[in-house]
Amino acid sequence: MSGVVINQLGIRPLPDEIHEALHTSIKQLFGRRRLVKSGDHVVIKPNLTWELEHETTARPVIFAVTKYFVDEGCHVVIGENVRASRETDKVIKALRIPELVKRLGVDFVDLGKDLVTVATPDSPVYKSIEISRVAMESDALINVPMMKTLPILTHVTTALKNMKGILPPRQKIQFHDMGLSEGIALISHVLRPKLTVMDATIPLDWSPEGTYFMRPMGLVLVSDDVLACDVVTASLMGFDPARIDHFQNAYRFGVGEIDLQKIRVSGGDIAKLKMQFAVPPSLEELLAELPNVQVVRAGVCSSCEVAAATALWTAREQLKCAGDVVLLLGRDAKPVSGKRNIVSGQCLNQYKDVGFWIPGCPPRSMGQALHDYTGRVEDVPVCL
Ligand code: SF4
Repeated sequence: MSGVVINQLGIRPLPDEIHEALHTSIKQLFGRRRLVKSGDHVVIKPNLTWELEHETTARPVIFAVTKYFVDEGCHVVIGENVRASRETDKVIKALRIPELVKRLGVDFVDLGKDLVTVATPDSPVYKSIEISRVAMESDALINVPMMKTLPILTHVTTALKNMKGILPPRQKIQFHDMGLSEGIALISHVLRPKLTVMDATIPLDWSPEGTYFMRPMGLVLVSDDVLACDVVTASLMGFDPARIDHFQNAYRFGVGEIDLQKIRVSGGDIAKLKMQFAVPPSLEELLAELPNVQVVRAGVCSSCEVAAATALWTAREQLKCAGDVVLLLGRDAKPVSGKRNIVSGQCLNQYKDVGFWIPGCPPRSMGQALHDYTGRVEDVPVCL
């Protein structure tokens, strides 16, 4: 039976407290089974998507998890490939990961380089996926995500979604074009994490104004089943796990347990610890409200997609009065003739004179830019 241990450690636990909780949780989950043995190659995969520290797995959590496996005599690396619009080297430096790995005597590996192609015959959508060789050939991949909502795309960005960081940028972009929830589920089908440690000390919630805010919770979850961990996490956020597509797809692939009643939860009562996080609208709901807005997506990164969807949400009342408009997202999107086009992001700069251009990668202040567009719509040329 899959298990999830909820550790109530407070919002700023010390590495020693997390380390001790981890020891106890692993004993409880694995009993006499060995999670790893001395000499094993272990990859720690935190959530280090970009430079903002409060939007990434907390350092004490990364430190404590890594130290656990170092103490077990394993060869440990911390690995990540940051969001497609960012450079891994720069983000890692900004988050002071080089100092952390030095203190722990381990290495950092860019998981977006040195890849293997893995056939995925169980998927009706993808024939194969590209994945980090270091992760694929490790003895144990340890998933260390953080609890966050993700407006529009996947509702939550937690353990299954964190696995996207073991893929190269082009694979992530293909997921956005061909089916994100199927792709996310497929990663853990191809490479199942041996352990998941969810940082829910200070999760991120989403406000209807289109911004993230910190929602202190003080929890660290430990599980031997990545899907079960996500089910408990989503329940703690007040969501119905059955309504999250990539959970359903992961269950279909046999990744883990989706039925909360069949998961052994210890350390806390979900009903008492639960907080209601915001339920953001889906892109379909949003576009149904905006029949005058057409979105052309091709080769788009998740940062652009989330920024665009959030901006559409915040500027929706103004956009309703702005006439027909096309929003171009992603490096392969093409302007639509006979329409006004909003051209978003650096990768479409060859079309910047064709319509209303929003610079940046991902585009800067997109909500404000859409507001500006609605005030200047008459000046924006119609594409010929
Ligand atoms: S501007 Fe282009 S490359 Fe940059 S995040 Fe958006 S889609 Fe990706």
